[in-house]
Amino acid sequence: RAKSETRGTFSFFEPGMDARAQTRRKIEIELRGAIQNEVLRPHYQPLIGLSNGRITGCEALVRWPHPERGMVSPADFIPVAEDTGLINALGAQVLKRACQDAAAWPDDVRVAVNLSPLQFRAGNLLSVVMDVLKQTGLPPKRLELEITETLLLEKSSQVIATLHALRALGVRISMDDFGTGYSSLSYLRSFPFDKIKIDQSFVRGLCSNRELQAIVRSIISLGMGLGVTITAEGVETETELSWLRAEGCHEAQGFLFSAARPNPEIIDLLSVQSGAGKTGGSAVQVA
Ligand code: C2E
Ligand code: MG
Ligand code: MG
Ligand code: MG
Repeated sequence: RAKSETRGTFSFFEPGMDARAQTRRKIEIELRGAIQNEVLRPHYQPLIGLSNGRITGCEALVRWPHPERGMVSPADFIPVAEDTGLINALGAQVLKRACQDAAAWPDDVRVAVNLSPLQFRAGNLLSVVMDVLKQTGLPPKRLELEITETLLLEKSSQVIATLHALRALGVRISMDDFGTGYSSLSYLRSFPFDKIKIDQSFVRGLCSNRELQAIVRSIISLGMGLGVTITAEGVETETELSWLRAEGCHEAQGFLFSAARPNPEIIDLLSVQSGAGKTGGSAVQVA
């Protein structure tokens, strides 16, 4: 007993760190292989227009089908991809696949793709986007790029210039997870964008919480004042939906409508919507 305790002392001080470092190393090696073999795939989560219940676009959310661990969540490997620089190759692959898939969707449906701040720092983001649009034939106006407030923290003129150039192409810029970052509201003046996505942490439990209601109401009115589209993330209940609609929120996304699904299922959903005609009918259940 005493012996094993002594032997255990070495790893006793930082057992967590060792295990964590090893796990990350393993993920890095396997992720490198997954990128090389192009096994990562975006799934797509519909965005619903609240005026008519129709799918206005779908967000690409990367999925990693792992032989042993099943579907690995992006929360588990995007941070590793960012630490190791793999995010640039990963991001370019997701972007290309998403634009390819979306090019075959009805032409009134956009695709939204998440970007890591590191993809801006690489310096070639504009040409990556232009190449993908050219290769896939997707009209720029059907592409939305989701960025987070972390990107805006450094107030980099290179980032601002890239955002302006992307918008000049006709690509739309969305502020993802709005309200959760550390940057000040002053960036709203210097950075061009077209949409605010209210983070799901403000939406969940909204109906029984006055503070959340006040926050969401003020984000909606801020967005309206700025003339941008307001999207609520993480909508899970009918009561959340009707509250948001009554407050004038434009768009919603969440498990109430659909989780992210593989492209063939999205194609089915979109064809139901097209079949229902341009004005009426929605493919997903809306109250
Ligand atoms: P996000 O961009 O804010 O995406 C929304 C996340 O919330 C997704 O998780 C989605 O599945 C989940 N979600 C959607 N509706 C609901 C809901 O009603 N309730 C709850 N509880 N959750 C909901 P996911 O797919 O695990 O993605 C997590 C994050 O990983 C994303 O957050 C995004 O920041 C990042 N991510 C995903 N794909 C990519 C990618 O291709 N590139 C980069 N850089 N990041 C990505
Ligand atoms: Mg997003
Ligand atoms: Mg989000
Ligand atoms: Mg989020």
